[in-house]
Amino acid sequence: MATPSAAGGDNPLYPLSLRLAGRRVLVVGGGSVALRRVAGLRAADAEVVVVSARLTPALADMAARGLITAHQRGYRPGDLDGAWLVLACTDQPEVNEAVAADAERQRVWCARADDAAASAAWVPAVGRAGAVTVAVNAGRDPRRAAALRDRFVDAVDGADRPAVEQETGRRTGGRVSIVGGGPGDPGLITVTGLQRLREADVVVTDRLAPLALLEQLAPGVHVVDAAKVPGGPAMRQDHINHALVEHARAGRAVVRLKGGDPFVFGRGREEVEACLIAGVPVEVVPGVTSAISVPAAAGIPVTHRGVSQGFCVLAGHVRPGDPHSSVDWAALARSGMTLVLLMAIDHLAEIVDTLLSAGLGAGTPGAVVSDGWSRHQRVVTAPLQDLPGAVRAAGVTNPAVVVIGDVAQLATAGILVPGDPLFPGVAGDPGSAASPMSPARTTAGSASATSFPATRAGTVADLGGTSSSPATPANTATLSGAASSPTSLTGAAPSPTSLTGAASSPGRGVRAGRRVLVLGGARSGKSAAAEGMLAGDGPVDYVATGIPPGSGDAEWDARVAEHRRRRPPHWRTVETLALADVLAAPDPAPVLVDCLTTWLSRVMDDCGAWDDAEGTAGALAARTGQVLDAWRHTRRVVIAVSNEIGSGVVPGTASGRRFRDELGQLNARIAADSEEVWLCTAGIARRLR
Ligand code: SAH
Repeated sequence: MATPSAAGGDNPLYPLSLRLAGRRVLVVGGGSVALRRVAGLRAADAEVVVVSARLTPALADMAARGLITAHQRGYRPGDLDGAWLVLACTDQPEVNEAVAADAERQRVWCARADDAAASAAWVPAVGRAGAVTVAVNAGRDPRRAAALRDRFVDAVDGADRPAVEQETGRRTGGRVSIVGGGPGDPGLITVTGLQRLREADVVVTDRLAPLALLEQLAPGVHVVDAAKVPGGPAMRQDHINHALVEHARAGRAVVRLKGGDPFVFGRGREEVEACLIAGVPVEVVPGVTSAISVPAAAGIPVTHRGVSQGFCVLAGHVRPGDPHSSVDWAALARSGMTLVLLMAIDHLAEIVDTLLSAGLGAGTPGAVVSDGWSRHQRVVTAPLQDLPGAVRAAGVTNPAVVVIGDVAQLATAGILVPGDPLFPGVAGDPGSAASPMSPARTTAGSASATSFPATRAGTVADLGGTSSSPATPANTATLSGAASSPTSLTGAAPSPTSLTGAASSPGRGVRAGRRVLVLGGARSGKSAAAEGMLAGDGPVDYVATGIPPGSGDAEWDARVAEHRRRRPPHWRTVETLALADVLAAPDPAPVLVDCLTTWLSRVMDDCGAWDDAEGTAGALAARTGQVLDAWRHTRRVVIAVSNEIGSGVVPGTASGRRFRDELGQLNARIAADSEEVWLCTAGIARRLR
């Protein structure tokens, strides 16, 4: 049959860029070429169907996680039905030819990996620099195309990189580079790591390595999939060592690409030793470890001034009490350090029990961050005793990092992550390829992913939460109190607008252990803004600190009545000046303190502090000190409202000035210990921090 492609492989090409999101693409073949193609297709959000009797472990893992569909069998003609595009990448030319012929008949574009001349479509060498996508075809010389691609990407970046000839000429003898990359976001690899990848002849990769980077390797580069899937297929460590050594002995530049840092639970040292024994030159290129960076993706610092003076990184894959466990959990419970646990999801309940029995407080904040630095990132926070239940209820799975300690309460959804609308086209999950092989682009990626479809919707909705925005990439589920059923999980991801810090409405997004200060002048809308932040939540303790109504001031009574009318009926009003007690109470309900100004004025009454009498300063300082201390240590969600007073507004009396100064200091000190600070002016709330 005469087909258009029979007209010859050297006919001019017509370049075209495809939007594949949600469209089916068939990949025939399950080897390392297929793995690279699949990584690129996933980055474009295609619906990937792989047909192959055998799959590399990373492809099998993607299929098991539901990220692709895999049919483990030979190709059949009907496989093309419904596909927009097919990539034939088996190592059997006759199969590729059959696929191409069927595609031709069905008018589906087919790219053959084995025979460019016979291929109806070509996959160009692709690179990305910010909003620019570079795609290069260089006749039938894919290595030249890749080298030119790199040069163009560099040119876009304004980087001064060596010419292609020098690049290839620089190759020396065989060597092994043990390179850390990721976790999650391919942009987190180091500059040196990226250079080694560009120079590599062979890449031996792990499951949690940033697979997206594979898509951008020069076509001739040999990729060895050495993924170790927990409980699944694995390449034995001695085989990996052997492969590294043998490829290097054959004069090849070998990159052993790992997730995170190669020397943190990465068996990097064993591979170094194998090379040293074999006399093969070897180097280690450190990576960004998930132990520190994954908590950071959720806003959690592993240390924080005044909160944690150190952290301890542990593997949780061996249960406490197991003869193989060498960890002194009781000592850790007493250590006062942040505990960071990797590979700990399966034994979380036992680990928590052990820590609790060793005396670690049941209310110690805990957080679990899974799929860090990817669009699938999820965060669950709960007091330690509730953490295993919360993780189970949320269905959070590996890879995940567990953080135990006071810093865990600093988890925030207010940090931009890959996939955020403010980072257009950012690379995301292990397996997406938007981050280019160029160092300067940690999070800025391709132009092609201009928007993220609803299929990447927030996982909070999966948890029974109701407030997630479909486009919100990072999701935080918070368990307040001891509840552990999915319905008690509250979605707390802020709306994308509040991520900008300039939203006109604060919206929701306040979580357990969070302290928020809302400042504003009189009648600025500050109370309404604060109420709005808690609207839709369950019971809230509304702390009224002013003079109770009925004291003879009709204007004041009317204002109190107006506030009462506005509040949802299920909120509880607490009239008290004992703020420290309210903040210290173990009650899970959020607190709204309205407002610190009236509290201060009444405490100044109590202390007789208006006239600056001898001895009153100490009494007042003690009262404000108690509140500040309780504010710092509260486990409750607290929003405090306070006035921002300008100089011209206070009476020019000694007491007026004293009040102005006390309030200014109180506001500043509360603000210093708050996760969020908002300012209301003329009914518009803006987030300052
Ligand atoms: N060498 C790696 C750790 C390897 S152990 C590093 O330094 O990061 C594998 C564990 O790392 C996983 O079980 C999980 O606890 C953690 N991990 C790796 N990537 C992760 C990610 N993107 N999100 C959450 N946890 C991750």
